[in-house]
Amino acid sequence: MSKIRLLPDSVVNQIAAGEVVERPASAVKELVENSLDAGATQIKVSVKRGGKDLIQITDNGSGIEAEDIEKSVLQHATSKLKDASDLFKLSTNGFRGEALSSIASISKLTIESVTRQVGSGGAVGIKAEFEAGVLVKKEEAALPLGTTITVQDLFFNAPVRSEFLKNDSVENSRILDCIIRLSIANENVRFEYRADNRLLFCAAEGSLQTRISDALGTSIARSLREVEWAENGIRVSGFVSSPEELQTGKRNSHYIYLQKRPIHNALISKAINQAYSPYGDYSPIAVIFLEMPLETFDVNVHPAKREVRFSKDNAVFLAVNHAIHNALQSTISYPSISITNTLREHAPVYIAESKASDEGVWSREWGAEKVSAQELFPDDRIIPLDTNHSPLPTPHSLGFLQIGNSYIVCEQGGSMLIIDQHRAHKRILYERALQVLQKEESLNCQELLFPETVEIPAYLSPILEEQKGSLKKMGFYVEPFGFNSWQLRGIPAHLPINAAGKAILNFLESINESKESDIFKKTALSFANCSAISNETELSLQEMKAIVSDLLSLQNPYETPKGEAIFMKMPIEDIKRRF
Ligand code: ADP
Ligand code: MG
Repeated sequence: MSKIRLLPDSVVNQIAAGEVVERPASAVKELVENSLDAGATQIKVSVKRGGKDLIQITDNGSGIEAEDIEKSVLQHATSKLKDASDLFKLSTNGFRGEALSSIASISKLTIESVTRQVGSGGAVGIKAEFEAGVLVKKEEAALPLGTTITVQDLFFNAPVRSEFLKNDSVENSRILDCIIRLSIANENVRFEYRADNRLLFCAAEGSLQTRISDALGTSIARSLREVEWAENGIRVSGFVSSPEELQTGKRNSHYIYLQKRPIHNALISKAINQAYSPYGDYSPIAVIFLEMPLETFDVNVHPAKREVRFSKDNAVFLAVNHAIHNALQSTISYPSISITNTLREHAPVYIAESKASDEGVWSREWGAEKVSAQELFPDDRIIPLDTNHSPLPTPHSLGFLQIGNSYIVCEQGGSMLIIDQHRAHKRILYERALQVLQKEESLNCQELLFPETVEIPAYLSPILEEQKGSLKKMGFYVEPFGFNSWQLRGIPAHLPINAAGKAILNFLESINESKESDIFKKTALSFANCSAISNETELSLQEMKAIVSDLLSLQNPYETPKGEAIFMKMPIEDIKRRF
């Protein structure tokens, strides 16, 4: 008897939903793309509980014809593709006709739409409600032109998926990241994003520069360099960090577009990072637009259309790499991006004058690793510390010496210790912060006499909002202060003020990217990375003593949280042998 059966449509849709709708942000991306395809110039997104309870997208686009509404939620129903040849023309964001059907199959979906018919009686709209992809109600309604799609209980028909979701603020931040990515490529469209009725992002129609500034913050936008290049039929344009303003690597900082569609592509990211290799190991901010002949790439690789295949990987890599290289070399006077005040003029509600000092908040001093002790003493007779050793006794109290303003030399148990002060301090601060966080206590805070303003990229603001409490525990007192801006009223004791913005940013990034269980560790790590005294800092005798005794009282004084050796030990016998 035959065992092979065709799956019912409802199951096919649910399988497709697994690919298209990974999380609320994927649904938002598909729905906003539909609005863009419909020619909308205004798109409002509103979500509740990270998009799990509600996602609502309202646009002023062309609308869906009344008789097409039921069809729109069927699988492979699209108005954008007529035959296979259209697959390669790619003038719209959507083309697979899978998004609405996938979303509908796992949620409660309402479509309200009015097309631009201008009859004597004006436009009449249609409101249709679906549950798990099945039409449950359809009626005429008086509505404004355009389309509103409401998704309630996303995943109500796929409860397993909802268990994999992160907390609301992380989901909000992912949604915002995806709106920002689309907004950068569509600067003539007005975007608004509200989470739980609070306006988190707003970008008015404007230039690309203004859009970048709305999305990434004014001080970042101001420091970007323009890219303009063409090679082998590939045009590369956009903006990238100037070498003077580089910050340590953030995963999220490449905004890559092919034919104005946001894509993720490891090859292009590598080409971008490689162009910066002469300046150190940085991942710069890059907004890169690629345009190339349609026959040289394929976007139909993945249902969510994130991935792209190029027919000539190498040519794309080189074009991007050369484009950025050229932008960095160019002598165009810096800064090359001029920021207009459109944001201030258009952005609603809580705009306040920002007084962020450009050099203060984004100091690049932090994070650059210095030469290791191993490199200084390559001789293999210098024995690295045996990590199975029992905790060390307190060292001799007087003999401390600092060399190169970076290494502390002292005697301990008949051996000479050479301690990397930066790494040692990092370990000490890491352990302390971890202890405090795990014990639900707070780190000491020093209140600032003159509050500083820090700029936080919009996509992280939902996380900042939610994590205000944890930041307070770490000693950071922050208050909202206008679009993308936060006011710092207190910072952890001992943290240099110019590292505070960076520390907060690191913390938020790590929460955005990590598993819940790692958050304490990541938080402690980002705090330690930013707060540890750098090498090439002169220390007083007291400071050296404090570092050494704090270090040696730790259970693991041997390596930094990242596993780098903190000190070298040279037994007296070895010193004798050398003579
Ligand atoms: P695709 O975008 O690949 O065509 P979707 O499932 O996303 O497939 O959408 C199905 C169809 O529904 C679209 O082709 C379009 O005709 C219609 N549609 C969806 N959203 C909108 C919208 N906001 N405005 C106008 N038409 C829409
Ligand atoms: Mg679509």
